Amino acid sequence: MSETFDLVILGGGCAGLGLSMALEAHGAQTPRTLVVESREMYQNDRTWCFWSDETQVLPYKIQHRWHTMRVSNGGRSVALHCGSTPYHMLAGEHFYATALASIDRQPNITLRMGTSVNSEPSFAAGVWTVDTSAGSVTARAVVDTRPPRSVEMGGATLWQSFYGWEIECAAAVFDATSLDLMNFLDPDPRHVPFVYVLPVSPTRALIELTVFGAQPLGRSELSSQLEAVVAKLVGGSLFKTIRSEHGILPMGLRDAPRALHSSYARVGIMAGGARPSTGYAFQRIESWAHECASSLARHGRPTPHRPDPLPLRLMDRIFLEVLRTHPVRGGAIFFSLFGRAQPARVIRFLSGRGGVLDSFAVIAAVPFTPFIRAALHLMWRAGRVDRVDSVDSVEKVA
Ligand SMILES: Cc1cc2nc3c(=O)[nH]c(=O)nc-3n(C[C@H](O)[C@H](O)[C@H](O)COP(=O)(O)OP(=O)(O)OC[C@H]3O[C@@H](n4cnc5c(N)ncnc54)[C@H](O)[C@@H]3O)c2cc1C
Repeated sequence: MSETFDLVILGGGCAGLGLSMALEAHGAQTPRTLVVESREMYQNDRTWCFWSDETQVLPYKIQHRWHTMRVSNGGRSVALHCGSTPYHMLAGEHFYATALASIDRQPNITLRMGTSVNSEPSFAAGVWTVDTSAGSVTARAVVDTRPPRSVEMGGATLWQSFYGWEIECAAAVFDATSLDLMNFLDPDPRHVPFVYVLPVSPTRALIELTVFGAQPLGRSELSSQLEAVVAKLVGGSLFKTIRSEHGILPMGLRDAPRALHSSYARVGIMAGGARPSTGYAFQRIESWAHECASSLARHGRPTPHRPDPLPLRLMDRIFLEVLRTHPVRGGAIFFSLFGRAQPARVIRFLSGRGGVLDSFAVIAAVPFTPFIRAALHLMWRAGRVDRVDSVDSVEKVA
């Protein structure tokens, strides 16, 4: 016999737990929900950073906030003031603890850890059946946050790969009032490499080597360069590594996730949860969670991520095309963007909260020629695809 729920959430990570937390506001209207999570326990496996209004009350403990950030390229640096939207750092462990406490308060939500979804859910007579390692469950609605089994090559225009160490130094080597958002390394024809440094005290920082490139990179491919970067930053101080984190995020998904049915939503990082040109996903997922929770409480139906407005989608495509075709110019392009546009506009653009004026400010700040070439190239490619499609259909008809 299958257990029956109103809603099954496949995967209890950022999106699955975010949705569970957002449901708390709906009290008794919260559907009877099961969250199926394959991990046995949560660990401090990642750090979420984002720009947020400092007056906004957040449900989690924020580990650190920076009001100043630096972007550097080719020996030049620009310091940017975040104004009323400092850069926030949320430790994974604090997010998971807040989510677990919220689930504990909600009688309608059950989290089943150490349980895997074995196959694709099946649909019959208005009901989904989900086969899990702890037996099968049925529900009228499914929210699927599972990433694809393997990172699919070609599934994204670019990949953001990063590997970082949180270190504790014997000597005071960091300035905890300012973070290095992007410190570009020497131009590389394969990808755009930069260092991201989040100092939380004079002796402790998370240091990440990040690359934007056509190929996703694993820890082993990034580790020797990360070692060299850390050695240079600590300048001979003894240090110990507290923990490490690695990620591969899509930048510009090639295929939009297929909608199986209005009662089934695919969401999360590989389903439109990430801002294409930056990979920032946390706040986007959080906004989606609130929208989805309202829809579930009102109509019993989940919602997927909302697509970005068309002008923003086009800008993202052009931006990613420039980085893909001119990786050696990546550092100069970002430096120009941060150096010439107002920080508040760039922050809104990067976070996906920008309006038309912010997009214009960003366009005006970047070098014109590669962007026009990329736009023309994309238009030419779109025209070719249309022509090939119409030739194909003529041949099929013939
Ligand atoms: C190290 C790291 C740092 C990041 N830093 C930032 C940041 O600073 N700012 C930002 O905006 N974004 C950041 N991101 C991007 C994004 O916010 C995260 O990837 C976020 O966790 C995505 O949420 P998700 O729910 O899509 O995926 P996840 O959080 O990975 O959740 C998916 C869940 O599904 C579970 N699962 C998978 N398969 C199954 C199965 N078959 N059965 C049951 N459960 C399953 C997994 O165990 C996991 O818990 C970072 C990502 C990483 C990896």
